[in-house]
Amino acid sequence: MVPRKDSPEDAAAFDVAVVGAGPGGYVAAIRCAQLGLRTVCIDKWTDPRGRPALGGTCLNVGCIPSKALLDSSHHFHCLSHLFPEHGISVDGARIDVAAMQSRKNRVVASLGRGVAGLLRKNGVELVTGAARLTEDGAVEIAGSPPRSLRPRHVVLAAGSVPAAIEAAPTDGARIVDSEGALAFDEPPRRLAVIGAGVIGLELGSVWNRLGSEVVLLEALDDFLPGADRDVAKHSLRIFRRQGLDVRLGQRVTGCEPGGEAVTVHFEDSHGAHRIEADRLVVAVGRRPATEALGLEEAGIDRDERGFIRVDGFGRTSREGVWAIGDCAPGPMLAHRASEDGISVAERIAGGKSRIDHHTVPWVIYTHPEIAWVGRTESELDDAGIAWRSGRFPFAASGRALAAGDAEGFVKVVSDETTDEILGVHVLGAQASELIAEAVTAMEFQASAEDLARTVHAHPTLAEGLHEAALAVDERAIHL
Ligand code: FAD
Ligand code: AMP
Repeated sequence: MVPRKDSPEDAAAFDVAVVGAGPGGYVAAIRCAQLGLRTVCIDKWTDPRGRPALGGTCLNVGCIPSKALLDSSHHFHCLSHLFPEHGISVDGARIDVAAMQSRKNRVVASLGRGVAGLLRKNGVELVTGAARLTEDGAVEIAGSPPRSLRPRHVVLAAGSVPAAIEAAPTDGARIVDSEGALAFDEPPRRLAVIGAGVIGLELGSVWNRLGSEVVLLEALDDFLPGADRDVAKHSLRIFRRQGLDVRLGQRVTGCEPGGEAVTVHFEDSHGAHRIEADRLVVAVGRRPATEALGLEEAGIDRDERGFIRVDGFGRTSREGVWAIGDCAPGPMLAHRASEDGISVAERIAGGKSRIDHHTVPWVIYTHPEIAWVGRTESELDDAGIAWRSGRFPFAASGRALAAGDAEGFVKVVSDETTDEILGVHVLGAQASELIAEAVTAMEFQASAEDLARTVHAHPTLAEGLHEAALAVDERAIHL
């Protein structure tokens, strides 16, 4: 237990110090404060002018800026690809990347001010600086001035940073990570992306829509291995048709940045290859930001990949120290980090919450979007669980056809014996919104029959979920 006493270094005794103000940390801090705990939230992120930049990866260089650019580029894409079908034509459509980037920056800045306002409103003290734990359980903050705190509890919400590979060291110019790819000032003529995962696909889509020739080099033979196999197969076909040159089974082995271009070397089962690109994005995943937290000195265990080991309540190996979000094992997603934060705050306050990642929804914000919750058919096969599934294509949905946006389908997978919903998989417009109903259904342990007997407004895309649930029992109406 971290001893509770007023520190001689810092008179203020906090109940909780939260390290990190990303979606995990700032949400945990707010919930702690709501529960009457005296809370401080510490983050080291500052903007180019040295002011605190709250919201972590998600707000500054992740979810929000990527969605801002995905939305802007989608609007541009619709001008030439969707609107003509609706009888709308625009001559001389142009893209002003500088304006698009300033809009994105304004959205980020405004939400950052919002987070600061929420912390203030809830009475959370904000400290800017890098925090580190010490052997005796203090939290040392390298800010100006430096501070040392002795809170009763510490919540580590330090998040993650882009993973790097030796084959492609970033140089901030030709070779960049996801943060760099969100800040291009013009579409590169030829853009190569290492990794066809969530981030590679989203960023590749943005620049492809704005005119870049995009090649994604993916080491694995399988596309989106965590997704439903039908979703993966269909979406790959759609993305390739959109112009994303997704090449599977291609492991990048090196690259040579030159003055004008970068040469990317990669291998497949046939041998070695290379391509030239104007910019290269390294999107090979993320790793936990746990190196500079003083974990070893404080006796806090990490796993072999650097994630902080926690139990089902977010407790680390040291009493009074908790870990949430991207720095602890589990889905590296903003909403999961926030839910971890709420759960840990409630535990600290004496509540009974526990962390459950089984119903965390996954979303890929391409167009069409991909979203799922629960397990895939292959995962159920591997677990020896018998299942039934029903599928409904948006091509048979009145709303999707009216919108002219009818690619994809909904699949509902349920237990063969009990009919409990075990997974829902959506490829289609608004999949990110549609999946919320499936998450709620699964939280209530609904059966496919429950969804099938639920009235859905007409005409809506959500009727696709209703029909897929009916299809589990082979009684879809519009198939
Ligand atoms: P972070 O958001 O990484 O925040 C950690 C904070 O801790 C940072 O502000 C950091 O400065 C601070 N910190 C770290 N160490 C210290 C220290 N020692 N002292 C003080 N402060 C410290 N997820 C989604 O759910 N949906 C999406 O659409 C989505 N899109 C993404 C797009 C991109 C391009 C990227 C890169 C990520 C995306 N993610 C998305 C993932 C999402 O951003 C993360 O899962 C989420 O930010 C994790 O939240 P967190 O609070 O755990 O950590
Ligand atoms: P994600 O974890 O969803 O962000 O996806 C990252 C992807 O990058 C994974 O699918 C990895 O297989 C892929 N990847 C990692 N290293 C390489 C490499 N050297 N060459 C090509 N792809 C890679």
